[in-house]
Formats: sequence, structure tokens, C-alpha cells
Amino acid sequence: GRSNEQFWKSANDKLIGFGGGWMPVRIVKAKGTVLYDEKGNRLLDWTSGQMSSLLGHGHPEIVETVTKYVTNLDHLFSPMVSDPVLDLAERLTAMLPPGLDKCLFLSTGSETNEAALKMAKMYTGGFEIVSLSASYHGMTHGAGAATFTVGRKGYGPQVPGNFTLPVPYAYRSPFRHPDGSYDWKTELDYGWDLIDRQSTGSLAACLVEPIVSTGGIIPLPDGYLTALKEHCRQRGMLLIMDEAQTGMARTGDMFGFEHEGVVPDILTLSKTLGCGLPLGATITSNEIESVVRKRGFFYLTTHLNDPLVCAVGAKVCDIVVREDMPRQAREKGALLRAGLLRLQEKYPQYIGDVRGRGLLQGIEIISDAKTKAPGSKLGAAVADRCMELGLSCNIVSLPALSGVFRLAPPVTITPEEIEEGLQIMDRAFAECID
Ligand code: PMP
Repeated sequence: GRSNEQFWKSANDKLIGFGGGWMPVRIVKAKGTVLYDEKGNRLLDWTSGQMSSLLGHGHPEIVETVTKYVTNLDHLFSPMVSDPVLDLAERLTAMLPPGLDKCLFLSTGSETNEAALKMAKMYTGGFEIVSLSASYHGMTHGAGAATFTVGRKGYGPQVPGNFTLPVPYAYRSPFRHPDGSYDWKTELDYGWDLIDRQSTGSLAACLVEPIVSTGGIIPLPDGYLTALKEHCRQRGMLLIMDEAQTGMARTGDMFGFEHEGVVPDILTLSKTLGCGLPLGATITSNEIESVVRKRGFFYLTTHLNDPLVCAVGAKVCDIVVREDMPRQAREKGALLRAGLLRLQEKYPQYIGDVRGRGLLQGIEIISDAKTKAPGSKLGAAVADRCMELGLSCNIVSLPALSGVFRLAPPVTITPEEIEEGLQIMDRAFAECID
């Protein structure tokens, strides 16, 4: 094995940086909710890997499925259909309402959004895309152009025709009134008015997450998706929902759109669907699929409908339905949220807001309760201390605003592991504040 010195030297010498720093841990094993470093230290995984390990690491049924398929039916020529692909398509569409009838299975979130955007452009004949100002939809050129948090500069022109609506950020919006009420509707109408004045008249689709996750755990206010869908309808646009993080039970509903009962024209799933393996799905209606098919929609990738990962996806569907994972996310989410609210009561100067649904929660760090001045430095210090004390959590930052802890543990987390993590956070806050 490598010494730690060799490990970090190799990381610096041999890997292309992603744009941030590597976390200062060397994880050698992941099991359930727990990561182990090279010395055997435990670290609770409250990010579910990259928000993906919905059922924890090394779930026995996932291990069994991977073993079976890697041995017997791993990968095929893309135009060959196989049974696990149909198993996944049948299970998923049975979990979804009519209008989400047909599936395209890919590998990543970026890819699923690329496919959705191309489909919407082909269906509507337009090319302009609207997304939220704190959006994250991927790293590829199309999904990246609809992403307004990171990665926009230094590559020449973006894909043309991408507009942004202000993210409905109740905590800091200028449309929040002194009495605490939040007039998101006027903010939304105002955003559309700006877009209408910039658009060339070729609007194709609006792409949103039900809870804007990487942009700061911002749940869309109740009624927002209904209003957004109406804005889309008036302009002949499709509504695409990106449920990379919110799909598959995490928010307490099986899919985030169920919270308000607004069915998107196209739904994209990834991360949670593969439970840590690279699987994504773009799902749409019979009607949209038949129109784009006639118009020559072509989308074939190396891992299109791959049997191995589709078998895993089908197993994930079985488990989340059988174990009523939405209920588990609601119940455990309520425990987590109660603990976070207790922390806010204890540190009101530094925790400005607790928000989210189910097991996707965020706490916004401030440095002054009156002015709500961002507490990004304290947030980073607390996150670092949590890591040292055995809790892996993640700070996401709102562009130019502040730091938000994003907490998204596996839905299989135990109440004891929730309590343990909360205690670590409490201790980290106490130590970093004085
Ligand atoms: N959409 C959302 C909402 C995401 O959070 C992410 C990943 N952070 C993506 C799309 C992109 O997925 P991937 O990294 O798998 O391409």
C-alpha cells in the first residue's frame, strides 16, 4: 500500500483538479451510513456520497444484484434491449402518474438533462431555456448553460438562449416583506417579464429542481410549480423537472413534484436512482415521445439502457416501494429537522434558517442575526471541525451570498446515527464560536 505521503503526492501529481480542493481524508471503506479512513476512524456520511447513496453503502441487495449482473449480463451493444431495462422501465412508470410513460436510461444527471433539453427543443421548435438563478443541472455544454451556480466562465460563449429566473429564496428575497410574508408570485411574474423582453420568441423549456439543492437547499414555495407550469403553458414551453437529488423518496414523497402535484412534461432522475452507480433516466409522455421520434430524435450513448445499472435501478425501485422509503424519509427527516431547530435555538446568532423536506435539509449560517450577514467563514470552520469529529457534511454556497450546510444522509440512516451527527454538529458549533 501507499503511505499517506505517497497518497497525497499522487493525488496532486496525477489527478486533474475539479476546481475545489480534495477533502483531507483517505476513505478506504464505506458501509451503510459509515465511512472508514485508513486508520479505521469512523465518519458518518451525511452527503450520501455525491448525494447518491440513497440506501447507504454496500446495501446487501444492491451488492447481490451487481454481482449477479456483472457476472452474467453486464453490458451490451446499445441497440440491444434486455430484461432488466424493461424491469426498470415498468417499475418506474408504475410509480409515476400518466404523462410520464416512456424512459431513456443513461448514466449521469448531466446526460439526462442534455437529453431532456434536446427533446424539448425538438418538440417545441424553440431553443431558449429558462432555469433558476441558483440552478445546478450539470457540467456538459447544454446542461451547463442552464446552470447558473458554477462553471460558466472560461470556455467561450455558452449555448445561446439561456435565461434565468430569480430563485425563490424566501430567506433573503427583496420580495420578502418586513412582516415575514414572501410575495414570490410578484417576483416570479417580474422574472418572466424580464425574460419576455429578452427572448427572441423561441422559448422551449423551463428546467427546475423542486428543491434547489446545490444552490442552497431552497424549497420552491407552495404554489410556485403550479404558477411556473402556467407561465410555461402560456408560452408553449415544456416544464422539465430535474430530480437528481429529490427523486426516489428523499424528500418524503417518492418524487419531489408530488408535493404540489404538478406533473412535469419531462422528468430527469439520476444520483438516487442508481444508489451510487452511474444511472440516469429521462422520462416523458407518449405524446412528446411520438412527436420527437417522428422528427428524428437520436440519442444513443455507450451506456444507453445498460443491463447492469438498470438491474440496480429496478432493485432500488423494489426496495423504496417495499420499505416505504418516503415514510422513512418523512419520519427520520422530522427527527433531523427537530434536532436542527434545537441547534438554531441554541445558536440563534449563527443559524439563520433551517429549511428543506424529509432527509434533504439545509441550515443557513450567518454572522449576525439582525442583519443576516453571511457567516461563510464560520460555516467552513464548523464543517471542517465536523469532519475531524466524525461527520462528513457539505457546505454549499449561494452565489455571492452565504454558506448553507446541506444535509442529505442515506434514507437507511438510523435514529441513533442522526442523534450522533447532531451531537457532533453541536460540539463543532460550540468549539468554533468561542
Ligand atoms: N442535476 C442536479 C440537480 C444535480 O444536483 C446534479 C449533480 N450535482 C446534476 C444534475 C448533474 O449530475 P451529474 O453530475 O451526474 O452529471
